[in-house]
Amino acid sequence: MPQRTATVVGGGIGGLAAAIALHRKGWRVEVLERAPRFTEIGAGISLWPNALRALRALGLDDTVRTLGSIEATGGLRDRKGRWLSRTDNTELRRRYGQPLVVLHRADLLRALTEALPADGLRSGSAVSAVREEDGARPVVEHSAGESRSDLVIGADGLRSTVRRTLWPDAAEPRYAGYTAWRMVTEPLAEPPAEGAAIWGRGERFGYTALPDGRMYCFATASLPPGTAPTASEHAALRHRFASWPDPVPALLAAVPADAVLRHDLYALPPLPSFVRGRVALLGDAAHAMTPNLGQGACQALEDAVTLAHCLDGTPDTTAALRSYDLARRPRTQAITRRSARLGALGQLSWPPAALLRDTAARLTPTWATLRAMTPVLGWTAPGGER
Ligand code: FAD
Repeated sequence: MPQRTATVVGGGIGGLAAAIALHRKGWRVEVLERAPRFTEIGAGISLWPNALRALRALGLDDTVRTLGSIEATGGLRDRKGRWLSRTDNTELRRRYGQPLVVLHRADLLRALTEALPADGLRSGSAVSAVREEDGARPVVEHSAGESRSDLVIGADGLRSTVRRTLWPDAAEPRYAGYTAWRMVTEPLAEPPAEGAAIWGRGERFGYTALPDGRMYCFATASLPPGTAPTASEHAALRHRFASWPDPVPALLAAVPADAVLRHDLYALPPLPSFVRGRVALLGDAAHAMTPNLGQGACQALEDAVTLAHCLDGTPDTTAALRSYDLARRPRTQAITRRSARLGALGQLSWPPAALLRDTAARLTPTWATLRAMTPVLGWTAPGGER
C-alpha cells in the first residue's frame, strides 16, 4: 500500500494523539493548529487509567507517569471540610492496572509534540473550511493554502470549524449552567498531603498535587450564561471562597493574580455520526463534555488509538471510519451524559438536596464508587494489552 496521508485539524491533546497513533502505523501526517505554538496554558489535567492505557498504545505512558504526580489518596469533602469518601491510588492501580496521574497540560502537550516529526507540525495555520468532493480526497482550506489528503481528522475542539462546515445541522454546544476556574499555585513549602474535591451549594472547589510542590486547583459556581468576567477573577475567587475549609483560602493566596483561567462549561448535544466520507471528528469536536468525570481528554486519547486501529491494514478508509464511529459514539455519548448528571449533583444548591447528596456519598463504600467507574476506567485499547 502506498504511504497514506492525513490532515489533522487542531493540535490539542486529541489532534496530537491521533497524529501520533497514525504516524506509528506508517501514515504521513500534518497537524494544522491555528495558535502560534503547540502548547496549553495554565492548568493541570487528570489522566485516569483508561487514558494511561491509550497512552501506552502510543508509547507514552511511562513518559507521562514521569511528568506527573501520583497522589496516594484523595477524595470528596463536604462544605465543612469533613471527608465524604476517599479513594486510594493503590486500589485504583490494583483494579485497573494504572493509577490516576495529574500533570501540567503544557508538559503533556510537549510530550505529545516531541513524539511527532517536526516537519508535520504546522502552527499558525487556521483552518477555514473542509471540502468533500465526490470520489476525490477531501481538501482542507487554511491560512497557508490548501491540503488534500486521504483522511481529514477534525480535532478542533468545542467550536469545531470542521463540524460546523460538514455537519451544518448539528446542534450548538449547550451551557451546563455553571462556570469553572482553573489555576496553578506557586510551589508550596508544605503542599496538602491529599487532594480533594469539596462540594458546597452551587459551588465546588478542588485541588490536587502537581510535581515540584505546585497545586492544580479548580472551582465551579452556578452562574447565568455569559456572566461577564470581573476585573480580577483572582480577587473575586478569593472573596467567594474565603470561608471555605482549609486549605482553600491558603491555596488561593498562593495563586499568582494573573494565573486564573475562567471558562463557562458547555457540552455538545449528541451527534448522529462522528464521520462523513473520509472525514472523522475526534475529541471535543465530536463529544465535548463537562469536566465532572475528568474524562474529556481521556476520551480524546481513546478516540485517537481506536481510530488508528480501525484504519490499520485496510485500504477502505470510509469503512474504517464507520467502524470508528460505531466503536466510539455510544461510549463517549454515554460518558457525556454521566458527566452531566454528576455535575448537576455537584452543583445542587437547595440545602436539603445537598445534605441528602452528601449523606449518600458518605454512606457509599469506596469499593462501590470504584466499581461503578469500571465502564469508564476499564477500557482497553483495541488489539492491545491491558
Ligand atoms: P482542544 O483542547 O480544544 O484542542 C483543539 C485545538 O484545535 C486547539 O489547539 C485549537 O487552537 C485548535 N483549533 C481550533 N479551531 C481551529 C481551526 N479552525 N484551525 C486550526 N486549529 C484550530 N479532561 C480530562 O481528561 N481530565 C481533566 O482533568 C479535565 N479537566 C478539565 C477541566 C476543565 C475546567 C475543562 C473545561 C475541561 C477539562 N477536561 C479534562 C477536558 C479536556 O480539556 C478536553 O476534553 C480536551 O482538552 C479536548 O482536547 P481536544 O484536542 O479534543 O480539543
